[in-house]
Amino acid sequence: MLHVPKHRIPEREMLAQTAYQIVKDEVMLDGNARFNLATFVTTWMDDEADRLYAATFDKNMIDKDEYPQTAEIEARCVRMLADLWHAPAAADSTGTSTTGSSEGCMLSGLALKRRWQHARRHAGQSTDRPNIVMGANVQVVWEKFANYWEVEPRYVPLEGDVFHLTPDRLLEHVDENTIGVVAVLGSTMDGTYEPVEEICAALDDYEARSGVSVPVHVDAASGGFVAPFVQPDLVWDFRLPRVVSIQSSGHKFGLVYPGVGWVLWRDAEHLPEDLVFHVNYLGGDMPTFALNFSRPGAQVVLQYFQFLRLGLEGFRLVQQSCQDVALHVARTVEALPQFRLISDGRDLPVVTFSMSPDVTRYDVFDVSRKLRESGWLVPAYTMPPNREDLAVLRVVVRNGFSHDMAGRFLRDLQAAVDWLAGLGAPMPREQQPSGFHH
Ligand SMILES: *Cc1c(COP(=O)(O)O)cnc(C)c1O
Repeated sequence: MLHVPKHRIPEREMLAQTAYQIVKDEVMLDGNARFNLATFVTTWMDDEADRLYAATFDKNMIDKDEYPQTAEIEARCVRMLADLWHAPAAADSTGTSTTGSSEGCMLSGLALKRRWQHARRHAGQSTDRPNIVMGANVQVVWEKFANYWEVEPRYVPLEGDVFHLTPDRLLEHVDENTIGVVAVLGSTMDGTYEPVEEICAALDDYEARSGVSVPVHVDAASGGFVAPFVQPDLVWDFRLPRVVSIQSSGHKFGLVYPGVGWVLWRDAEHLPEDLVFHVNYLGGDMPTFALNFSRPGAQVVLQYFQFLRLGLEGFRLVQQSCQDVALHVARTVEALPQFRLISDGRDLPVVTFSMSPDVTRYDVFDVSRKLRESGWLVPAYTMPPNREDLAVLRVVVRNGFSHDMAGRFLRDLQAAVDWLAGLGAPMPREQQPSGFHH
């Protein structure tokens, strides 16, 4: 029986074949991605993409001199996204690939902070107390941004049955020290879009009254690859002059395996030059704005593959069929008396629902646990302040979750609530996890 090293690097070598078998067996114990309705991240690509991945996994994104063609592919993707998101001069766009949205949020937040500092110093004003304003529903990365870069986070609390940032209570939180407002296109909590256009209009109004111009960053982690195809008339992007930067996850609805995101600025003016590093270790002059130095280039190649493979029409078909499935799931859930529908998938293809008030013997956490028995991973969590009283289940419909699988899921959901309702006594209570950050 082979001993599997867990704490120290083993003294001696082993056959590659043996190491392969050990590690392969270990990762086999991970969940089955197909049944994972919790994640937004891509778990399936064409076989050709897998082959391309295998052929490019050695490419290092930073090494633009050794891999000029990968660098060129990155630039093409940036231009394509600038065009998709209506940047004023798409051919001459400013942006970069990242390891995901999180890095994109850090970079765009830094650019906001630095531009604010420059403007304040120029006007002879203090730069001691920067703040950033956002809904209480933002993804955890914004909390990290505020903490790591020492910017006061100002969360606009949720109110009533709207679970994202709206313009009505926004301005109470904005002042001359606000480096920017984050608007989320596709809230992690329920998949709904924040009204970016109205948020911008409220800030236009604020500027007219106060003379203070507050820029908007759009966190389009999921929506950046959904709205242009499913809601093409929704105005949320660089068409709005107040939107200065947008980031999105290539590895979510950009349909690429984990490890790629994108961040774009409206124009070069909105990315302060003093944040850009010019490095020449590897030969040539290479401007970069990134938190990492070395990182894999294969995912960038795969993003380009997806753009060519699907085209605008293919992306539209994929995202539209996700939405069709989501709407079907929502309609079916809504018809079940045990549940109350919270969001129906008309923005992101995400369906959230809570227990209806007359269900008292079990809750969403019990349903989530019960669904695990049939293999489904469906998270249950409570909403952010001030709606922590509301606990929901969330289903993310991704590429590959077919009508067939949805049918099976809905049958298993029905069976789960039937089983819970049939118990002789209420489910025993335990401490429930309070937050969920996915
Ligand atoms: C997923 C997500 C992020 C973080 O993105 P990663 O690509 O996982 O780093 C940020 N914001 C929102 C709204 C998200 O959904």
